[in-house]
Amino acid sequence: MKLVIDERRCKGCNLCTMICPYRIFREGTRPNDRGIVIPELDRPERCTNCRLQGLYGRRLCGVCQMICPDQAISWEEEKPYEPRKVVIEF
Ligand code: SF4
Ligand code: SF4
Repeated sequence: MKLVIDERRCKGCNLCTMICPYRIFREGTRPNDRGIVIPELDRPERCTNCRLQGLYGRRLCGVCQMICPDQAISWEEEKPYEPRKVVIEF
């Protein structure tokens, strides 16, 4: 699973930044095209939901999602790794 912030919903309040016990969110630095500074994700694979939600079939933390006033936080299934052929020319 992969943690995602929906940029169309987020208003940059940083409640998620304050609440996450693993400090996976941190304050963003650049405003987007709506002028909102979206939090950045610092190694989101550390999130218990990202790592273990698929394995246990349920949410294991999720306080960031609960506190977000704009329902901007969710988890997505990650696409399976698809090996690609690479042509190397000499
Ligand atoms: S709590 Fe929600 S609206 Fe606030 S910064 Fe985080 S994702 Fe954005
Ligand atoms: S689910 Fe918990 S650990 Fe994962 S990003 Fe949200 S608050 Fe942090």
